[in-house]
Amino acid sequence: MTLKKILAAVAAVAATLSLGAAQAAYPEKPITMIVPFAAGGPTDTVARTIGQVMSKSLGQQVIIENVGGAGGTIGVQRAVSAQPDGYTMLLMHIGISTAPSLYRTLKYDATKDLEPIGLVTEVPMTFVAKKDFPPKDFKEMVAYVKANKAKVSLANAGIGSASHLCGMLFMSTIETDLLTVPYKGTGPAMTDLMGGQVDLMCDQTTNTTAQIKGDKIKAYAVTSKTPVASLPNLPTADAAGLKGFNVGVWHGIWTPKGTPKAINDRIQKALQDALKDKDVIERFAGLGTAPEPANRQTPEALRAQLASEIAKWAPIIKKAGVYAD
Ligand code: ASP
Repeated sequence: MTLKKILAAVAAVAATLSLGAAQAAYPEKPITMIVPFAAGGPTDTVARTIGQVMSKSLGQQVIIENVGGAGGTIGVQRAVSAQPDGYTMLLMHIGISTAPSLYRTLKYDATKDLEPIGLVTEVPMTFVAKKDFPPKDFKEMVAYVKANKAKVSLANAGIGSASHLCGMLFMSTIETDLLTVPYKGTGPAMTDLMGGQVDLMCDQTTNTTAQIKGDKIKAYAVTSKTPVASLPNLPTADAAGLKGFNVGVWHGIWTPKGTPKAINDRIQKALQDALKDKDVIERFAGLGTAPEPANRQTPEALRAQLASEIAKWAPIIKKAGVYAD
């Protein structure tokens, strides 16, 4: 072996050892969890609920960073471009699988540019309206929006958000186009709905439950296949007349591509700890949702979910003919 080769070998061993030491000490500082929507909304609520317990498990604070806009794609882009050192993770939902079909100019490929950690929860949605919206039940609401389509506004969190997806499916199912109003998240959209500036929204139970129970908005139906235990008075949209209407908002956690496996494993362990925590389970139940089963809290399950959902939504979105730049 030449001296040059020996020195190169020594340097490689040293680099491996120091990487190993860095991983062993991980985490040494707070970790950022990117939420690609505004604060105070449903994704933010899921992030803050699990973030607290993940902090305990990791021994470092998990700091939520809200990066809203463009249906979540700006926040995902931020996570893709972050250092793969274990100090950035992303919490995103179903929108990560619809964006490739909706956005012509997406600069990332979520199947390649991110490392899947695991699925978190699948949240049902609810059809809600401003308090003085005239229709009394779901059937009446459908008839009303059909008859008054020129003046009914439908809020969403931007193209590719869950509320946009649900609204799009709703409008195509009832064959009626409404005026859609995009926000950086359904947190701010909810403020406007309560204020009566916008009429209608399809939004996750993690954002609507408190307002429904507080009688601040009107609620018509849930989008799950079966009723939601914490909202017993609401029928499913399917039972109320929209046969087969079903949207569940699955959420996952990713890290930037290249994050070392040992670190991803550590983050997954923190996720698993959070999803079996009694307080998290209780809080989720109160918000109409539940942790994903343990076998879905895995990289393999999230990788498969993302691939199958991209394939599922592509033809539906193509048929709807909705695009964004
Ligand atoms: N998840 C979004 C939010 O947190 C809402 C949506 O996707 O509709 O605001």
